[in-house]
Amino acid sequence: MDYLEGLNPEQKAAVLQIKGPVMIIAGAGSGKTRVITYRVAHLIRSGVDSFNILVLTFTNKAAREMRERINHICGPEAKNIWMGTFHSVFAKLLRVEADKIGYPNNFTIYDTDDSKSVLRAILKEMQLDDKLYSVNFVLNRISAAKNNLVGWQEYQNNEQIQADDFSSGRGMLGKIYETYAQRCYRAGAMDFDDLLFKTNELLKKHPEVLNKYQQKFKYLMVDEYQDTNFSQYLIVKRLAAVNENICVVGDDAQSIYAFRGANIQNILNFEKDYPDLKIFKLEQNYRSTQNIVNVANSVIANNKEQLKKNVFSEKETGDKIKVMRAFSDNEEGKLVADAIMQQRSTNGLKWHDFAILYRTNAQSRSMEEALRKNGIPYKIYGGLSFYQRKEIKDLIAYFRLTFNPNDEEALKRVINYPKRGIGDTTVDRIIVAADKNSITPFEVIIEANRYIEKAPASLHAFAAMIQSFQVITKNQSAYEAALHIAQHSGLLKDLYEDKSIEGLNRYENIQELLNGIKEFSEREDIEEKGLDVFMQDVALLTNDDKDKDKDADTVSLMTIHSSKGLEFPQVHIVGLEENLFPSQMSLNSRSDLEEERRLFYVAITRAEYKLTISYATSRFKFGTLISCEPSRFLDEIDAKYLELDFTAKPVSSGSFDDERNAWSRKADTFSKPKAATAPPVKTTSILAKAHVPSPDFKPSDTSNLQVGMQVEHERFGFGKVLTLEGNKPDIKATIFFKEIGQKQLLLKFAKLSII
Ligand code: ATP
Ligand code: MG
Repeated sequence: MDYLEGLNPEQKAAVLQIKGPVMIIAGAGSGKTRVITYRVAHLIRSGVDSFNILVLTFTNKAAREMRERINHICGPEAKNIWMGTFHSVFAKLLRVEADKIGYPNNFTIYDTDDSKSVLRAILKEMQLDDKLYSVNFVLNRISAAKNNLVGWQEYQNNEQIQADDFSSGRGMLGKIYETYAQRCYRAGAMDFDDLLFKTNELLKKHPEVLNKYQQKFKYLMVDEYQDTNFSQYLIVKRLAAVNENICVVGDDAQSIYAFRGANIQNILNFEKDYPDLKIFKLEQNYRSTQNIVNVANSVIANNKEQLKKNVFSEKETGDKIKVMRAFSDNEEGKLVADAIMQQRSTNGLKWHDFAILYRTNAQSRSMEEALRKNGIPYKIYGGLSFYQRKEIKDLIAYFRLTFNPNDEEALKRVINYPKRGIGDTTVDRIIVAADKNSITPFEVIIEANRYIEKAPASLHAFAAMIQSFQVITKNQSAYEAALHIAQHSGLLKDLYEDKSIEGLNRYENIQELLNGIKEFSEREDIEEKGLDVFMQDVALLTNDDKDKDKDADTVSLMTIHSSKGLEFPQVHIVGLEENLFPSQMSLNSRSDLEEERRLFYVAITRAEYKLTISYATSRFKFGTLISCEPSRFLDEIDAKYLELDFTAKPVSSGSFDDERNAWSRKADTFSKPKAATAPPVKTTSILAKAHVPSPDFKPSDTSNLQVGMQVEHERFGFGKVLTLEGNKPDIKATIFFKEIGQKQLLLKFAKLSII
């Protein structure tokens, strides 16, 4: 068993325990994913049929990497394993079984845009207030219901839910949910949550189907188990019920999807569900230097809710964690780009050794700008996917319609694109006729003269065109069919005629999609390679799933959420500012704040050798320049692990002054006593270090403070009082501090000494 050599004794024990339920809850970088990979290899080497293994991963990319590794140890058997995200694996299962629950097996997968568009139409028809019933809000409610396995009937019959909805003035949610579900059903479409919701329905209602998959998946493994929701939990539980050969691995400290219904309860339930459970502990972190592991531990120790574990590293102590301060978001981008260039040349690194992680997608702009200016190649992960671009979605909508003419969202998208004289009114009339006659819109179009008065001739031509596409896809290869559709729908010509730079870009994207389909139709490792097969899971693909640039040497940019499970030699975490990270929305409850802290823990633990954290003291948000305070998370790191780099100076004093004057201060940011939401600030805090108070510093009575006086603040340093507002005891002072600029403080909390 030399292939197990790269494991420590605990990891090896977990790998060898192939029978019965197994759980590993362990810290970041301790080899959880590695255990799953080797466990699969070991199962195959021990004679388990690779068709009997199911592995659920967090991203398709993770699954692909795992498969490659297993292939390395076990050879082509690796190909037969069912491996992927919950969504892609169960979409695949539903493609075989959907007819049992009344869906066509070639059902369409509605992406979030499609779902929103369906909802928008429903809200408009029902004439509901779009503030009270915003599309995002409604979609979230429906999504949450589905992930808790509450169908629309149950939603409407549940007294508690109804009472809550009515008391918030949103009593129509149940009806919206019902209409939405029926629209999707009529269109032969499932949204993302349906892929899990309907799988549960299928396994519950059809014992013979459940039995079939219990027999098939004799061995189940789940990575990142801490982020499964109830719907996912139940699928796994059902499938594992007979053989109970189930292994889950995760880290409660990295649970970052509570907002999407992930539930720590699933870890606790696991022990209850399987009394014979074997638990393995992994404590050694093999990824990061000691400094990085220690910083991660010190941050997460601030969370009250956590399963205690000990994580250590035996790698070198490593560099201290560098903290950089910038005066603006653009300058932060510049500092990061400079640091990357410098590190790369000093240490002979590649661009792909670096990652930049941020809390929100919007932060990528200033980073991108700086990287581009310096000619640094980069790739954004998890951003707008190639498959979400308008022109790609347009062509794919034609494909969707060809395979499932009931797909209403696809129909609406292309019925008049390129223009063929079918206006919105006609489309509305088609939908009304479909509703009235309980048939699908496409059925209305086929017999337009029967259902619609003075139906335009173009409707007939459109139906005939789609039907001709159906014939083509049956007789030709995926590529030939796709090319035919692109040409005969008029889409290619329309894009070709647009000679603007964007138009050219769009045309090239279509070419790229067609090339992708061509490669697919020439693959030798799969038998079924019609356009329908290519299309099946396109809605689930993300940018990261394109193989083309897999090996490209680029700096990786992504949100912290999408960095889970990954590792990079050097990591930059940017935007460590209050109201950004932790995000403003998380400041209302301890549990939300703890989730933000777990997010920070995830970010820190992605780094192997060098971690750099940065923040800006001002940033553009929604078009206005606001001033920012360093994040409380910086306070939570023991200063002995930190190296402060505050050398950056404002680009020019003039522009700094302008920025400063433009600042619209949030008066209460600092005046709020932090202890209300955050744990006590340690004495070794980084901010305390940013300004070392004078030896004779002593907060003095400020009741006689006057405009123009010079003061010293414990953390912000020396400054001058600009204005005083309000009445005792709530006087607010605006002070200009030399080091950090203007701040408004509530005097009763401010630790000031008058000098
Ligand atoms: P995360 O919590 O971030 O998902 P993880 O627990 O899944 O982390 P892995 O990604 O499996 O950890 O492992 C982290 C790194 O440590 C990987 O580079 C892996 O190859 C390496 N590693 C794990 N175990 C060992 C070992 N026994 N010997 C050498 N390297 C190891
Ligand atoms: Mg992992």
